[in-house]
Amino acid sequence: MSPDPGTAGGTRRVVLVTGGSRGIGRACALALAAAGHRVGLCYRADKEGAAETAAAIGDLGGEALAVAADVADPAAVDGAVKEIESAWGPVQILVNNAGVTRDGLLLRMTDDQWGDVLRTNLDGAFYAIRRVAPGMVRSRYGRIVNVGSASGATGSAGQVNYAAAKAGLLGLTRSVARELASRNITCNLVAPGPIATAMLDALPDDRRADLAAMVPLARLGTPDEVGATVAFLCSEAAGYITGAAIPVDGGLSMGH
Ligand code: NDP
Repeated sequence: MSPDPGTAGGTRRVVLVTGGSRGIGRACALALAAAGHRVGLCYRADKEGAAETAAAIGDLGGEALAVAADVADPAAVDGAVKEIESAWGPVQILVNNAGVTRDGLLLRMTDDQWGDVLRTNLDGAFYAIRRVAPGMVRSRYGRIVNVGSASGATGSAGQVNYAAAKAGLLGLTRSVARELASRNITCNLVAPGPIATAMLDALPDDRRADLAAMVPLARLGTPDEVGATVAFLCSEAAGYITGAAIPVDGGLSMGH
C-alpha cells in the first residue's frame, strides 16, 4: 500500500460499504472517500442511487466501484468482494450498513417480516465480515464498523425484528473484536438515533416528530453526522478503539 497525500499522511485503503446507494451508507462512502480511500459499495436494488454515490465520489477526485449484491446472500457477498479485490486488492475497511425495516406489532409479525430483517441486518454483516476477515488477517490491518441502532439497546415497540437484529450486531461486534484484535483489526458499532433518511421518511409525520421530540438535541440527525463518526472509527487515529458502541443519537441513549 502506498502512502497517499489525500489520506493526510495515512495509507490509502480499500473499503467496502454495504448499502451505499443512499442515506447513511452514502454518507459513510463519501466520508471515507474524502479520507483518501478507494470505496467499493454494494446495493440490492437501487442501481441509480449507487451510481449517484459513485459519481459524487468521482466529483471529490476519488475512486468508487458500485456492485449489486444482496448482503443476505453469501454467494452475492463473495462476488462483490471478489470484484473489489480484483480491482484494488483486499478489503481493509468494512462498513456493514445495509439494513431494512419490516415493522409490525409482535402478535402480528410474520415469519417473513422477522426473517427478512434478521437476514439483511444481522446475517448480512456476518457474511461480509467472514468474507473479508482472512484478507485483513493476512495484511495485519483491518477496520470493521457495524451500523447498529439505539433501538438495539432500548428496544422498540413495533420493531422486535429490527431491535433484535441490532442487538445481535453488538454481540457480533464484540466477539469479532476479541477474535481479531491480535491481528490489528478493530471492530466497533455505531448506534444512530433517528436520522433523516428514506428509512425514516417511511414513517408517518407525527411519528417522526415524536422521535425528534424524544431526542435531547431536539432534532433528527443527518447522515453526514453518522458518516463522520464511522470514518473516524476507520481511521489510523482510532487504532486503540475496539469493541465499542458509539451512539450518534443526539443524546437519546445518553451513552447506553
Ligand atoms: P436507507 O433505507 O436510506 O438505505 C438503506 C441502504 O441499504 C440502501 O442503500 C439499500 O439499498 C441498502 N440495502 C437494503 N437491503 C440490502 C440488502 N439486502 N443488500 C444490500 N443492500 C441493501 O436506510 P438508512 O440510510 O436510514 O439506514 C442505513 C443503516 O442505518 C441501516 O442499517 C439502518 O438500520 C441504520 N439506522 C438508521 C437509522 C435512521 O433513523 N435512518 C437509525 C438507526 C440505524 P437498496 O435499496 O438497493 O436495497
